[in-house]
Amino acid sequence: MSERIAVVGAGVIGLSIAHELALSGDAAHGREVTVLSDLDPLATTSAAAGAIWFPYAAERSPAVDRMLEASLRRFTAIAGDAEAGVDLRSGLIIERTPEPDRSWTQWVEARPADAAELPPGTTGMRTRVPLATQTEYLPWLQAQCRALGVRFVQREVDDADALARDFDVAVVAAGVRSGALLGDDDTMVPIRGQVVRVANPGFWEFRIDDGDATALTYVLPRRDCLVLGGTHEVGEISLEPDPEIEAGILARAAALVPQVAGAQILSRAVGLRPARDRLRIEEVPGRALRVIAAYGHGGSGMTLSWGTAEAVRALVAS
Ligand SMILES: Cc1cc2nc3c(=O)[nH]c(=O)nc-3n(C[C@H](O)[C@H](O)[C@H](O)COP(=O)(O)OP(=O)(O)OC[C@H]3O[C@@H](n4cnc5c(N)ncnc54)[C@H](O)[C@@H]3O)c2cc1C
Repeated sequence: MSERIAVVGAGVIGLSIAHELALSGDAAHGREVTVLSDLDPLATTSAAAGAIWFPYAAERSPAVDRMLEASLRRFTAIAGDAEAGVDLRSGLIIERTPEPDRSWTQWVEARPADAAELPPGTTGMRTRVPLATQTEYLPWLQAQCRALGVRFVQREVDDADALARDFDVAVVAAGVRSGALLGDDDTMVPIRGQVVRVANPGFWEFRIDDGDATALTYVLPRRDCLVLGGTHEVGEISLEPDPEIEAGILARAAALVPQVAGAQILSRAVGLRPARDRLRIEEVPGRALRVIAAYGHGGSGMTLSWGTAEAVRALVAS
């Protein structure tokens, strides 16, 4: 009989996991994968994301480094499919700390930026990395899942153990609400991020200024807009865009990329980054069915998504 797997969550983590599990099932080890989610993918935190491959505000460790590399490899391959909404984009990262973390450069094309293109007193790197247009990528990924036989059910799950009635395995990829759903983890901290999306006046490079801990600034060219950010508000949970914060973002973005000044505002978004000291990707013991936790990606959910999916696939098979 097929193994019945529930994936709770249809953000980028849940969708990537569902895809990976459906793809790796075969006739001998059949799998029925069902995604249970109370929000549509385009209403999740994942839809608010920039969404660039770049490690930010998440655990760094050898295990996470393997996920970074795996995700980069997968996104680079996906960028070959024009319909997926993922592009390889060149851009500039401005560093303001004395010893910036450049460990990510081991996996990508990157070189120190010329002093002439940097603000005084800063250093920086030029690089080329995957950047997704979430309005295209998330629906594409969901369609890929459906093509592999994944079922989608819109519902809230309030008790992971109750899933034992219909499933053999539950993967909890519920973002910032995962700890509460499992009931055994109160270490999650939401980190609020606000963005404003504007019409692109013709700027196709990305730019990130790592600023200080509370206000990194970025301009990210999606296919349908420029995403201007951002904020890093630890413990804040309001999902309402704040006009004062938005004015600050617009001013900082225009200082970073002057063409952005006065660009037409298309939409706004707020998301709660699911932060935790360490990613939680492990089997949770003592439950009514096999339960696997897959959350805590902070500001790197896109960046770590495929690596996470591969890690969960290995756990399910173990
Ligand atoms: C402004 C902003 C910019 C960002 N930029 C980037 C970036 O450029 N690159 C990057 O890598 N990361 C970025 N991030 C971080 C990234 O968005 C997150 O790490 C990622 O979205 C987390 O994905 P997730 O699937 O775990 O959670 P979510 O996207 O929040 O999805 C959670 C899912 O779980 C479901 N769910 C939760 N609880 C329940 C329940 N009880 N029952 C049923 N369903 C439930 C929800 O409906 C939803 O489908 C950014 C975040 C923000 C806020």
